[in-house]
Amino acid sequence: MPLNLPPSFKCQPGPVLVTGAAGFLGSHLTDALLELGYDVTGVDSFITGSRDNLAHVHDHPRFRMIQHDLTMGLPAAVTRQPFTRIYHLASPASPVGYVRHQVTTLKINSLATIDLLELAEKTRARIFMASTSECYGDPLEHPQRETYWGHVNPVGMRSMYDESKRFMEAAAMAYHRERGVDTRLVRIFNTYGPRLALDDGRVVVAFIKESLTNQPLTVQGDGRQTRSLCYVEDEIRGFLLLMESQGYHLPVNIGNPEETTMLELAQEIRELCNSKSTIIHTPLPPDDPRQRCPDITLAKEKLHWSPTIPRREGLRRTIEFYRQKLKL
Ligand code: NAD
Ligand code: UDP
Repeated sequence: MPLNLPPSFKCQPGPVLVTGAAGFLGSHLTDALLELGYDVTGVDSFITGSRDNLAHVHDHPRFRMIQHDLTMGLPAAVTRQPFTRIYHLASPASPVGYVRHQVTTLKINSLATIDLLELAEKTRARIFMASTSECYGDPLEHPQRETYWGHVNPVGMRSMYDESKRFMEAAAMAYHRERGVDTRLVRIFNTYGPRLALDDGRVVVAFIKESLTNQPLTVQGDGRQTRSLCYVEDEIRGFLLLMESQGYHLPVNIGNPEETTMLELAQEIRELCNSKSTIIHTPLPPDDPRQRCPDITLAKEKLHWSPTIPRREGLRRTIEFYRQKLKL
């Protein structure tokens, strides 16, 4: 995957820790860091990720993988080694995934986050935390700016994810303000691309799988709810730019403001797949946000980042990946 970093981009490759390295974003980030010359240690319990995502770097001389559930504390192999950079991405990320693993989701974004902040403090590592547009809940402000406090149901079917990510943000700010930890916070908006798990219910991969196998596309609700989809290559460039940026510790939205309804998305994916699938409607899950679109003014100003891959192009690449994976 080309990184397309600006010529002015500077990094000092050293030992870096990636939690959730076997997941969708973690594996693409691992590829990028290896390409930039870093020594990468990945930690993952494989609860929602897959060894396949990292099979191609299994024997890479600058990569090692530790299988470990971070909700059980940090493994000695991690606390023994001083990292210069820590990327904390481990967490179930899809609504299906976090409802299936509710307690793990709470713990990984709270207890494990504190453990990693303590490690960063002790070793003076810079730490990057993967937060989410779910911090805005079902937003009443549109598009969402980082200054919006959100509209979240604290006890609903998304609360274990939304509230633990909000805790993660509060923890990052407290460790930064009181203890001087060098934190970075990203609010990731719906990102898609190759290596999303086929079975975790996220909309792009669900529609692609259904289209390629000529099954009905299952649009939840009336399909008028919106999302703004970012291709993984753009998202990872945003991560690297944020991590290497100087001195901004409040959350930054990284996402593509190209907004679409889920019904339009189903029609677009069906067409790109040349599929004969029908479209059916199933019930809308509780608390499903009606609209979501990032305001990326801050990312443009602070990081000189904006997305470059249009949705149709990103979808084409993603469909090609799953066509090969499903041998269709
Ligand atoms: P993913 O499920 O593909 O990857 C998450 C990885 O974390 C998996 O490999 C999983 O096995 C690992 N993991 C989970 N719990 C763990 C534990 N207790 N110990 C060790 N490893 C554990 O999801 P993703 O899309 O790659 O998301 C990565 C991060 O980005 C998550 O923190 C997620 O909340 C955040 N995020 C992603 C999106 C998106 O659109 N992809 C949007 C918002 C936020
Ligand atoms: N969705 C859908 N059909 C599916 C999966 C999801 O219509 O098979 C809808 C879902 O109701 C939501 C949107 O697509 O409005 C995005 O869902 P996803 O699970 O990908 O992520 P979310 O943004 O809700 O976390």
